[in-house]
Amino acid sequence: MTQVISRVDDLRAALTGSVVTPDDPGYDEARQVWNGDIDRRPAVIAYCATAEDVAAAVTFARDASLEISVRSGGAHSTAGLSVGDAGIVIDLGRLSEITVDPARRRATVGGGALQRDIDAATQAHGLAVPLGEIGHTGVGGIATGGGMGWLTRQHGLTCDNVLSAQVVLADGRIVRAAPDENPDLYWAIRGGGGNFGVVTSFEFALHEVGPEVDVGMFFYGMDRAADALRLAREVIPDLPPDVSFEVVGLSAPPAPFVPEEHHSRLVLALAAVGFGAEPHHRELLERLRAALPPLFEMVSPMPYAALQQMFDDAFPRGTHCYEKALYLEEFTDAAIDVAVERITATVSPMSCTFFYVLSGAYGASAEEDTAFGGGRTPRMQVFILGMTPEADGLTAERAWVRGFYDALAPHAMGKGGYVNGILPDDVHRLPATYGTKYPRLARIKAAYDPDNLFHRNANIPPAP
Ligand SMILES: Cc1cc2nc3c(=O)[nH]c(=O)nc-3n(C[C@H](O)[C@H](O)[C@H](O)COP(=O)(O)OP(=O)(O)OC[C@H]3O[C@@H](n4cnc5c(N)ncnc54)[C@H](O)[C@@H]3O)c2cc1C
Repeated sequence: MTQVISRVDDLRAALTGSVVTPDDPGYDEARQVWNGDIDRRPAVIAYCATAEDVAAAVTFARDASLEISVRSGGAHSTAGLSVGDAGIVIDLGRLSEITVDPARRRATVGGGALQRDIDAATQAHGLAVPLGEIGHTGVGGIATGGGMGWLTRQHGLTCDNVLSAQVVLADGRIVRAAPDENPDLYWAIRGGGGNFGVVTSFEFALHEVGPEVDVGMFFYGMDRAADALRLAREVIPDLPPDVSFEVVGLSAPPAPFVPEEHHSRLVLALAAVGFGAEPHHRELLERLRAALPPLFEMVSPMPYAALQQMFDDAFPRGTHCYEKALYLEEFTDAAIDVAVERITATVSPMSCTFFYVLSGAYGASAEEDTAFGGGRTPRMQVFILGMTPEADGLTAERAWVRGFYDALAPHAMGKGGYVNGILPDDVHRLPATYGTKYPRLARIKAAYDPDNLFHRNANIPPAP
């Protein structure tokens, strides 16, 4: 039996965490999310410190007919899904406890924890869970939507490594989702996004990683970008299992390894990370260097935890951002022509394009094992990110992102995409993203959230 809480003061009294409203000091800071372009004014921000707090906040929202946004510590949704106007933000930033059991190779992680804190806690034992590549991303969004990063080729997606979870449902109940308990919910939260409830803690499988890994990044001027992409096409199919690979189009940062004359110059990077003791990584770098000598390079061992934060400063909180994402099977000649032309046309020095190579252990999970949207055959995840420090520049970036996406889309794998890169203007791509899983997800949604209380996400409406 859940308690009726219809006044903010009652909610305040019910939470061990705290509540911020427009009348409270700190409101303007509390309503911000990572994307500085999102400027929304929620009626209530509930900082939840326990699963019971989350249950109370969900009940309050339902009773007071407030639209719910769920926000983890990262608040990285570029669409601003984790904050809405006039509704309630259920903030999970205080649900950030991380417990590592090295003997059983498991970690229990609060639903609002940050990736960098998970990496720090697990790396203290030489272990890791596959996550994304920016340390200030929250686990809640990444683990429920998929989760791709440097470890995907070795150990799969973040969602593939969820062993169980604690979930607060739309009716306020706190339940466990695991293979032996609410198995349909367990399946759906691993890829189906935030549709089914609020995950207050995840239990993850851990793997031995590092603590040092071998990093190699080769940078080419845009005049050699087509050659570099053809070289990437050549090496990607026979990458050794202990090496991850990525292609990035970016403006060269003023980092110590970048010669001064190349600072801010548009470049194409081929990046490889070696996780094994075998010389596979070194051999790959030798092959790349011999085939196409780079303009400059950065080759060094480094702690895995440092690799996981290497790009953090390039994505500061408050950045104005617009993005689109798609899957590409390979660098065909036509795709290379588009990539070179559009990367060369990048406007803002902050904007960039990532091609994550998804193969190896990415394909170890069977298609039906999780709800993850996107097939498990080898592919690349393309993130086209338009970013500026000021609001003014975003119109041009948005046009660049859309133009790039429209030109690349005819060469993409189907019309779907990664749910964590799908913005509201792309929500029509969700049925194609999930394919035959979509009706099953809609049925599970109907069972757990028949009124679509949790709809500020890549939304799957409940089946009738
Ligand atoms: C700079 C940047 C870098 C990125 N890098 C990567 C990357 O390397 N790999 C990758 O796979 N993706 C990456 N992404 C995309 C990222 O996966 C999504 O933006 C993800 O939603 C972020 O999660 P969050 O918890 O920080 O976001 P939030 O904005 O806090 O949440 C986004 C949505 O996720 C859902 N959600 C969040 N927490 C929970 C929870 N505990 N329970 C249920 N639902 C929840 C809610 O629907 C919420 O609206 C990146 C995004 C950005 C902006």
